[in-house]
Amino acid sequence: MKSWTRREFGCLTGAGLLTALSPRKALGQAKARVVVIGGGIGGATVAKYLAASATTIDVTLVEPRQVYTTCFFSNLHLAGLRPLEQLTHGYEALTRQYGITVVHGSAEAIDPAAKTVTLNNGSTLGYDRLVVAPGIAFRDGSLEGYDEAAMEIMPHAWNAGQQTRLLRQQLESMEDGGLFVLVAPPNPFRCPPAPYERASLIASYFQRRKPKAKILILDAKDSFNAQDLFQDAWNRHYPGMIEWLPAQFTGGVTAVDPKTRSVITVGATFKAAVANVVPAQMAGRLAQQAGLTDQSGWCPVDPVTFESALQPGIHLVGDAIIGGDMPKSAFCANSQAKACAFAIAADLAGSAQFPAHLFNTCYTYLAPDDAFSNAISFKPVDGKLKSVLSFISKVEESAEVRRKAARAAEGWYDAFTHDVFG
Ligand SMILES: Cc1cc2nc3c(=O)[nH]c(=O)nc-3n(C[C@H](O)[C@H](O)[C@H](O)COP(=O)(O)OP(=O)(O)OC[C@H]3O[C@@H](n4cnc5c(N)ncnc54)[C@H](O)[C@@H]3O)c2cc1C
Repeated sequence: MKSWTRREFGCLTGAGLLTALSPRKALGQAKARVVVIGGGIGGATVAKYLAASATTIDVTLVEPRQVYTTCFFSNLHLAGLRPLEQLTHGYEALTRQYGITVVHGSAEAIDPAAKTVTLNNGSTLGYDRLVVAPGIAFRDGSLEGYDEAAMEIMPHAWNAGQQTRLLRQQLESMEDGGLFVLVAPPNPFRCPPAPYERASLIASYFQRRKPKAKILILDAKDSFNAQDLFQDAWNRHYPGMIEWLPAQFTGGVTAVDPKTRSVITVGATFKAAVANVVPAQMAGRLAQQAGLTDQSGWCPVDPVTFESALQPGIHLVGDAIIGGDMPKSAFCANSQAKACAFAIAADLAGSAQFPAHLFNTCYTYLAPDDAFSNAISFKPVDGKLKSVLSFISKVEESAEVRRKAARAAEGWYDAFTHDVFG
């Protein structure tokens, strides 16, 4: 098993400090058991960094899927620019190199008093500390007619894998001249720039293969993330191809009709050749069932330890949490996970907690050779995660700067997924 030096781990958490994580338990006593639910970006990172931080912790990761497909870069797949296989990662290295027990199952219930997790096969896992990282769920009934069956006709592709493949197939078989309708969700939702990156990259695909096709974005909002950068790029790269309608024009999307592939707003019905419906979101189901969410549908946490504000002894990271200024991104989930691993390891070792610095770095594609970036650092202020320093690309950046960002994104993908999955 690889063990990091304190210096390496401290740098990686951004904490800069890794005080003695020596065992608090006496020699011969059983190892502390940490169960992590959800083998996505947040959960896999917590598991890896905890397992690497101390040989006195037994880490079990519970994840139903055998492999994980990243949402980031899935818009490149939709544009025919990356095979899905290149976005798919297994859990073998986490077991082989870090000694993590990976259980392929779904957590069905948590008993915080007994400190147990019940899996879908009926078995239970006991824990000393629990981390819950279930990602997102869609809000029931937010769009009339959008149920499990409708998702197979009008995919969301907001969890990557089969849904992404389905949407890609539909785009490939769409006739030139067809209308692609993208329903963009209300705030807060997973990855604020992603719907608009998706429209941009699908436009690049249409330009190459279906130049008469049109894209209509029906938004639940009146403005969106990095709007100036996107609208500038749409005018430059895809003039006349993308139309964005804010909620104030349409009254908002209220329903879908899968039989006719139609999207219904307050004032009109839009019939699509291909429809990509991304509904309103909330924390993953398990978080709801376990009483980890508040009335917002998301999970409040302590911004230093990522312990639930509602259930002591249970930590949460990733898209499921209320992250203050932190957006719901893979980079944020990874950064929170390192801080959370540090806090749990420090607590188990009986050493002091130090607030970590948290980060987000994001590359967003406007076209295959045109990407913008942002970098933001966060820290806990008055019980909330606040942004303290930020950089964001500007509209006037040169084509060369944007080309370099597009190439840098590829390097980021490889390094980042290695950091998560080993
Ligand atoms: C199109 C798109 C593009 C994106 N691009 C970027 C980008 O460029 N950069 C970026 O930083 N972020 C990007 N994101 C956002 C990023 O994918 C998410 O923020 C990130 O995946 C969140 O990690 P997570 O661990 O919270 O959730 P997830 O990665 O979704 O992981 C949750 C895991 O929990 C598992 N799970 C759920 N319930 C249970 C249960 N009961 N028992 C066991 N396991 C369970 C699920 O199977 C899943 O594997 C993008 C998202 C989309 C949709």
